[in-house]
Amino acid sequence: MKEIYNLSYDELVDYVKDRGYKAYKAKQIYNWLYKKRVIDFSNMTDISKDLIDHLKTEFYIENLELADRHISSDGTQKFLFKLKDDNLIETVLMVFDYGMSACISTQVGCNMGCKFCASGILKKERDLTSGEILGQVVWLQRYLDKDDKRLSNLVVMGTGEPFDNYDNLMKALKTINDPLGIEIGARHISISTCGIAPMIERFAKENVQYNLAISLHASNDELRSKLMPINKAYPLKDLFSALKIYSKDNNRRLTLEYLLLDGINNDVKNADELAKLLKGMNAYINLIPYNTVEEKDFKSCSDRKALEFYDLLKKRGVAVTLRQRKGDDINAACGQLRAKTIKEKNEIYKFK
Ligand code: SAH
Repeated sequence: MKEIYNLSYDELVDYVKDRGYKAYKAKQIYNWLYKKRVIDFSNMTDISKDLIDHLKTEFYIENLELADRHISSDGTQKFLFKLKDDNLIETVLMVFDYGMSACISTQVGCNMGCKFCASGILKKERDLTSGEILGQVVWLQRYLDKDDKRLSNLVVMGTGEPFDNYDNLMKALKTINDPLGIEIGARHISISTCGIAPMIERFAKENVQYNLAISLHASNDELRSKLMPINKAYPLKDLFSALKIYSKDNNRRLTLEYLLLDGINNDVKNADELAKLLKGMNAYINLIPYNTVEEKDFKSCSDRKALEFYDLLKKRGVAVTLRQRKGDDINAACGQLRAKTIKEKNEIYKFK
């Protein structure tokens, strides 16, 4: 059996045409899948019984099973999903004044090895299929349908490196963004990457309006290589030259994410270096409080120090924002819930 969410709109059209049906049938099926969000082919009432039988013998609709859920005091909800092969992934739902935002995963585990991040505690098992990436959004929207609420925003900031699963992500985002699909506006979708420079250059040529965020987290190569192994492959010079290509081809403001790691990356020297790096760029720094991870020694800096660093950057003419903390009490940082669940169950995984 195949997951039907893996089919793009065009592939669905080919599928129905190959079986001798008119192309508009694909539009109807697509509508049932992504607008009405049914989980049973039998509910597709304007589709003929023989086409439903075809679909039923070849495809399944729902590809995620809820394994666990945590609700934070600030309204953030974290879902742990079991995939068809029993792998676990995490998806987060956040409530902001401007609406509801989903944070989705792109891989089972992650190979990027960032020192502060819980996702990399468990190495990558596999990429998610486009259907599993899309499935997280459909599941959450279906969950919100009960209260007549809509997902307005999407961040690709869960477990995994999005640009290490590029094609599947782009395919999923197409249906997520499609007015005939889930219909989340492109400008309300943000992709975060640890900085795979050649993929940033590829994304620059994509001609899409999604926002791009880069996990910067350090202001010089020495520190960044210590925190993020990807910096050894693509040091700041390569990263920033890719970002300049992106900015030349896209009139979108870049987000540079910067974790506030106590005693590590937020003194005057870091502010000076960041000001130099960002000079002339259409970019801003988003300072992010660090969610404590049990297995890691890092600490977030105090609110006072966060504000001091914010001021240091402002004084140097850097565009900067300070992100509000979300879901700290429910292990909401990338990979935390999954790592914890697997550790507690002491399953087949080995901790490195
Ligand atoms: N691999 C991608 C996307 C996933 S991580 C990337 O690196 O950008 C999404 C963001 O959360 C990244 O900026 C990441 O560095 C950050 N992050 C990781 N662990 C965190 C933690 N414990 N607390 C706060 N942010 C964290």
